[in-house]
Amino acid sequence: MITSRRKLVLALDHRITQTRMNDQFNEPNVDHGPAMPDRRKFLVAGLGLAAAPLLTHVATGAPSAETGATVGKNPVSVRAYGATSAATPLGAMQIERRAMGANDVLLDVLYCGICHSDIHQARDEWATWNPTRYPCVPGHEFIGRVQAVGSAVTKFRVGDIGGVGCMVNSCGTCENCLADREQNCLKEATFTYNSPDPATGGHTFGGYSDKIVVPEHFVIRIPPGVDLAATAPLLCAGITTFSPMQHWKLARGQRVGVIGLGGLGHMAVKLAVARKADVTVFTTSPGKVADAQRLGAREAVLWSDAAAMKRLANQFDLLISTVPQAYPMQQFVNVLKLDATLVNVGAMEQFQGVNGIDLVLGRKSLAGSMIGGIAETQEVIDYCAARNIKAEIELIRPEEINRAYERVVSKDVRYRFVIDMASTKAAG
Ligand code: NAP
Ligand code: ZN
Repeated sequence: MITSRRKLVLALDHRITQTRMNDQFNEPNVDHGPAMPDRRKFLVAGLGLAAAPLLTHVATGAPSAETGATVGKNPVSVRAYGATSAATPLGAMQIERRAMGANDVLLDVLYCGICHSDIHQARDEWATWNPTRYPCVPGHEFIGRVQAVGSAVTKFRVGDIGGVGCMVNSCGTCENCLADREQNCLKEATFTYNSPDPATGGHTFGGYSDKIVVPEHFVIRIPPGVDLAATAPLLCAGITTFSPMQHWKLARGQRVGVIGLGGLGHMAVKLAVARKADVTVFTTSPGKVADAQRLGAREAVLWSDAAAMKRLANQFDLLISTVPQAYPMQQFVNVLKLDATLVNVGAMEQFQGVNGIDLVLGRKSLAGSMIGGIAETQEVIDYCAARNIKAEIELIRPEEINRAYERVVSKDVRYRFVIDMASTKAAG
């Protein structure tokens, strides 16, 4: 299984070189994230984590009044929301967070976005290449307050705000990690949930929980003054759409198409508009056409509008597909220009119905891309903070997660659900 996952990761994207934002923009610099000293520290952190004591997760049960009295020094039992099987709705449960190592940060989770990946994983929809380990606690775009730091931590102090995306560790020594591509770690990154967890011997649990322990390298600095709830989705939806725009060098005035206007799609529109690209949305939902234009797209085209699809033939420099399921792609290959690329960040399935001759005649490319590295994630957070770019969110309480899942699946998300974990703490 691990081998096939790693193959998928490699197939998704072979990028090694980090593209820097200033290659693309005539705009002020933003912080480019950690430099080499941080990298060295991270390598040490990885060793510390591997040596951490082994824990096992506790069984599911009712929420407790966990207070974290001896915060960080010992494993703590925390409230979480997760699924116990593919067919079970998510419910409250207790999980254990490991004792902190010298390089770890303990975050008190405040806001956690709901990504469609959470639903795929909770429902075991990726069983062929990434089977779900239960109990499954999803959540890989969250922001929290630092409640404790290990003795070697330098990036954070207690009380700071930090964010975590889709990864919580990687080997730190392979060529991809050394190129700030931890998500493509050749030994496989430890993803925020459903990864084997070398620190516990179990598997990782995500951000639908009160607290989490994460090595500081994998915690993103959140600039002061941002809207925390609406910034949380940038840690997955934001970076996943930003990274291909950087890699394929989407420039001012170029035509980009965003396929699917959901959580990732609406961030893709905002990020492409920010770089003054000419944006078109391809949607299956007539009710989203006006929204696409409000978000800054030139137009929104229904997949079913054959005349529009014909008019747009050979027009696009880049397409970003965020559709969560396999679908016939040829109609989108048709709208690519010579040498242009369709980047799939959505369906982890077969590319359906693509005619090889059209790729040959137009030297067109089909590609994939997975999230972004830690430095690039810091980059998108800083970029968005500087421009007041944030997700459009519906804030919900944890009891509403299952209803939110149904709405996401039925394409009725406008445009990201975010779980207000803080509200549950205030309520005790
Ligand atoms: P989402 O909020 O559900 O948005 C997906 C959008 O795709 C829908 O709103 C809908 O937009 C469109 N769509 C077209 N056909 C659909 C169908 N049959 N079912 C559902 N939606 C359909 O999902 P998301 O959170 O943006 O995630 C999108 C995909 O990206 C998921 O598969 C997720 O696992 C994946 N993902 C990948 C990465 C990565 O690193 N590559 C990172 C995060 C997520 P319209 O109504 O406009 O048609
Ligand atoms: Zn995600």
